[in-house]
Amino acid sequence: MPSTEEPLAVLNRVFGFDEFRSPQHEVINALLDGKDALVLMPTGGGKSLCYQLPALLLDGVTVVISPLIALMEDQVRAARQLGIAAGYLNSSQSSHDRESVRCELRDGNLKLLYLAPERLQLEDTLAMLREARLSLVAVDEAHCVSQWGHNFRPDYLELAVFKSEFPNVPLIALTATANEMTREEILEKLAITDARVFVKGFDRPNIYYQVQQKQSARKQLEAFLQSHRDESGIVYCLSRKKVEQTATWLQSIGYQALPYHAGLDTAMRKDHQQRFLAEDAVTIVATIAFGMGIDKPDVRFVAHLDLPKSIEAYYQETGRAGRDGKPADAWMVYGLQDVVLQMQMVRDNTDERQTRVEQHKLNTMLAFCEVTDCRRQILLNYFGEGHAGSCGQCDNCISPKTTYDATVPVQKLLSAVYRTGQRFGAAYVIDVLTGKQDERISRFRHDQLSVYGIGDEMGATEWRGVVRQLIVMGLVDVDVAGYGGLRLTESSRAVLKGDREVHLSQDVVQPSSSKRANRKEPADEVEVTETDHPLLEQLRALRREIANEENIAPFMVLHDRSLRELAVHRPSDRVSLLHIHGIGEGKADRFGARLLDVIERNPVD
Ligand code: ADP
Ligand code: ZN
Repeated sequence: MPSTEEPLAVLNRVFGFDEFRSPQHEVINALLDGKDALVLMPTGGGKSLCYQLPALLLDGVTVVISPLIALMEDQVRAARQLGIAAGYLNSSQSSHDRESVRCELRDGNLKLLYLAPERLQLEDTLAMLREARLSLVAVDEAHCVSQWGHNFRPDYLELAVFKSEFPNVPLIALTATANEMTREEILEKLAITDARVFVKGFDRPNIYYQVQQKQSARKQLEAFLQSHRDESGIVYCLSRKKVEQTATWLQSIGYQALPYHAGLDTAMRKDHQQRFLAEDAVTIVATIAFGMGIDKPDVRFVAHLDLPKSIEAYYQETGRAGRDGKPADAWMVYGLQDVVLQMQMVRDNTDERQTRVEQHKLNTMLAFCEVTDCRRQILLNYFGEGHAGSCGQCDNCISPKTTYDATVPVQKLLSAVYRTGQRFGAAYVIDVLTGKQDERISRFRHDQLSVYGIGDEMGATEWRGVVRQLIVMGLVDVDVAGYGGLRLTESSRAVLKGDREVHLSQDVVQPSSSKRANRKEPADEVEVTETDHPLLEQLRALRREIANEENIAPFMVLHDRSLRELAVHRPSDRVSLLHIHGIGEGKADRFGARLLDVIERNPVD
């Protein structure tokens, strides 16, 4: 018999939460009604609850398809902490472990069974599922089924089998990144064209977006990190070498920084990832190889020292910050060199169609960097979601950029490019413009040109900013296949002839302590005072101890918010313990007594 308990009661009893987040409740009701669902929610939005909760209310077992083995194990451990009977089957297991999971399934003792998609190719997996009593099928990271998405997994095409074999079992597909085209494809490939679609916007209101012009990247990063001492974060770099160098440098100035890239051996990578998850103040310096499946809730910042190659990549990487809903920073430095380098990478591509797609992606990324209006607006528009702008939580909203009529300086620059023969890079052209004494310049007799020294109204740094903006606007082209020489484009002509005005933005490097709006703390936060601190520390230590015993990350034992509520409210019995955010019956049973014990031993004086 299906349970008659209300979803809200289960939310409270098992998960320890007071209310649903939108649209969890509607999704759960649709599934309980036997309907299929497609759910789009941003990272950290609370997707797993959409299938874990109905799994508890329905008769039988819920099958969860999850593409990452590491993530699967974590999710099963986290579910068990809540007291949910969960297991998984994947290729990393011993056959003995697999057999014992199958046994539990046969005996009807499992509520959640996590499966790697490739297992569906095995005939005995299907036989096993036919014998079991399926209550619900959940397909996580559903965009992997789409050839147009950015993580296509051929194994996902096998998933159509669920609707053909089990037409009456509701199916829920979940993802955090899918534009209109990908959504259609998910519905079609999973054969759930009648599914109810739930979209919770892409906006991550607690993330503050900021892009600085690169001048001295390390100094800028150091200044930015001032406000993140003793916090967890990720610094992304493009190359392995830069990852290593940056990590070493950060260590030398007192940060617990650990490198992570595909060139490190597996044991070290695993160790660094583990420390990042388990400790409170580790900064991971990584290439994009790091991050998939990292669901640490309290990552306070994501910093980019190099330009990501698309908005999707940027959104996904920065999205790893602030999953707990508390203020977090997405910070980036970028400059002329990044633009040239990324263009080079795009054009190195031999497939012409691919080049066009990537060029387009890079252009939108650059537009995001150069925009003078609200960054959130441009980000959300990219995903097809309207936003009125003026978010108040990005650098452009907080300190609006000034733009100026740059037509005259731009004409000077374009003339210098033209007169020097359209074959020199930005540095040389700027030297000519600013009238630098230089052996090469005199050898080429460029000191005889009319443009020599006519640009002394700006320094070299400002000129580089001008060149960068002109490249992004398509008013100058870079010969990336050759030596990076600047060339005029079709559009340059109109400017040179005086038929077109050019407005550029004044580059500013933000003052070191980043100026920000009053960062909103979520309203549900308790205030920890001086007197609560000793208890909070003891609770933190206990959490670490339990995490070690259970071999899970501390945040899976209890979130920071739960610790703070414990330290402030000091529950004295099981009933008041269950009022704490994130503590349901499962956790109260497992370690409630130890929590109460620590609280009792730390009375307020
Ligand atoms: P996603 O898979 O969408 O990235 P998760 O399912 O991992 O997100 O959930 C993110 C966090 O939000 C988890 O720590 C989860 O416990 C928490 N959470 C989910 N639903 C709620 C809720 N209704 N109230 C409070 N916290 C919630
Ligand atoms: Zn804004």
